[in-house]
Amino acid sequence: MSINETMYAYGAAKSSIREIAAYGARRKAEIGEQNVFDFSIGNPSVPAPPQVRAAIEQAAALPPVELHSYTPANGLPFVRSAVADSLVRRFGPNAANADDLYLTCGAAASLSITFHALCVPGDEVIVISPYFPEYRVWIECAGAKCVEVLADQKTFQVDVEAVGEAITSRTKAVVINSPNNPVGAIYTRECLEALATVLRDREQELGTTIYLVSDEPYREITYGAKVPWVPAIYDRTIVCYSYSKSLSLPGERIGWVLVPPTNPDHDELICAIAGSGRVLGFVCAPALFQRVIAACVDVPADVAAYAENRQALTDGLGRLGYTYIEPDGAFYLWVKSLEPDANAFCERARELELLPVASDGFGCPGWVRVSYCVSHDTIVNSMAAWAKLAESYA
Ligand code: PLP
Repeated sequence: MSINETMYAYGAAKSSIREIAAYGARRKAEIGEQNVFDFSIGNPSVPAPPQVRAAIEQAAALPPVELHSYTPANGLPFVRSAVADSLVRRFGPNAANADDLYLTCGAAASLSITFHALCVPGDEVIVISPYFPEYRVWIECAGAKCVEVLADQKTFQVDVEAVGEAITSRTKAVVINSPNNPVGAIYTRECLEALATVLRDREQELGTTIYLVSDEPYREITYGAKVPWVPAIYDRTIVCYSYSKSLSLPGERIGWVLVPPTNPDHDELICAIAGSGRVLGFVCAPALFQRVIAACVDVPADVAAYAENRQALTDGLGRLGYTYIEPDGAFYLWVKSLEPDANAFCERARELELLPVASDGFGCPGWVRVSYCVSHDTIVNSMAAWAKLAESYA
């Protein structure tokens, strides 16, 4: 082959989540939407808030040349100011300035850009398993090795001691995701403070620099627990954010990378983020949606429907005897497979038209992820199939 075999392999391997979602779509066409219980993909089921529609209409009234023009590579200055001002209102005066932000095509681009900005071949990046499977792709394509460290298997908080042990002289970054996909855990302040202490201690012992990459697309999808502002706990933090979940805009590809002004390597990092965005072609995030988010920075996420689904799903599966981790945020339930092989469990579930995702792809065997960003009816009507599935193991 005369093409890049690594890229070919990524294209051929496909994302297991997307494959199940594609199967679900085919199956719905065959037997009817109401007969398939598709819990595969994290596509928000709550409509974007009305302020989004109003902002689109307002932007659409601009002269077309102005509306559709290129913006600066890092985004329109007034949009970055609006985002920074909102972060300052929420997290304090040191949270962000307009020039600390680089607007991107969602968290996928934010993370890709960040890993390319930080890593050279041979570096290592630690992820906390279970983790969003695309992390491995983005880390490896940035030339680094993806090192998995299992979360505490009871609380699914970061196993700080295990992270400390996994850090080597090649460790460039640790990635955290809170609220977490796939588990729904929100890392407590104590957990993050303990992690920060370990990172600082290991930096000092090894004479290296370790960054904390905080992937936060679910920051606003919470059910009561607080999500600490990570840069206030560890100064070498880079925040990756997206409006895909909070404003239900996954198809519009809009988010940002923040290098907080308190990061000691701020100037070099901002420059490397810009360089990385340039190299990867992630320049000038979608101009219409830059304008939309400027108008919607303080619009709260509507979590009422997710909260109801979460209640119905945990009540229902709990009654049937399933073991799960109580989710504090995001819209995923982490359920123990009823046999050690989660893939075999998912195959049996599929026969009953239930489509969860096996945990193996998340780097943690023996569980399944159930996305509850679906209609409430899907949850309620799926219970008979979950019951049959449990009975089949009795
Ligand atoms: N990070 C996590 C943890 C996610 O769950 C997702 C998407 O589901 C992403 C990043 C990518 O988000 P985006 O759609 O904004 O690229």
